[in-house]
Amino acid sequence: MAQHQLDCSICTRLKTVRDDPAFITETATGVAVMGSQWFRGYCVFLCKLPATELDELPPDFGRDYLDDMARLAQAVRAVVQPHKLNLELLGNIVPHLHWHIFPRRLDEEHPLKPVWLCMPPDYEEAPHAFDATRDAPLRDAIRVEFEC
Ligand SMILES: [Zn+2]
Repeated sequence: MAQHQLDCSICTRLKTVRDDPAFITETATGVAVMGSQWFRGYCVFLCKLPATELDELPPDFGRDYLDDMARLAQAVRAVVQPHKLNLELLGNIVPHLHWHIFPRRLDEEHPLKPVWLCMPPDYEEAPHAFDATRDAPLRDAIRVEFEC
């Protein structure tokens, strides 16, 4: 069974994430950040508790975490207007709960494939990495839509 890592990169990131240009917003349950922009509008919703499975969360917190993720997904959908959203809760590499929200477009090279089979190995590097100059307007639009 996957265990929460002692050197968890998400726990480390949560300590300073509000100063990160990729920071979108936060709720009582999680923090939303922009990710690599290989898929335009892609963001991640980091759980504030160091759990690795949804059923480890206190029930009320777990429901609120799912509701907050759904609200973030709705905000991304309203701003990016994708053909489809792909929502993924994996944790195979970093078990700490975090949702991936991927907007998908029909004009992608492989629109029917799972996201992880579409991205090149360097999807987190320039020019796909979050770029505050280029991506701040998109980040801000998602924040405004989420907070409406
Ligand atoms: Zn963690």
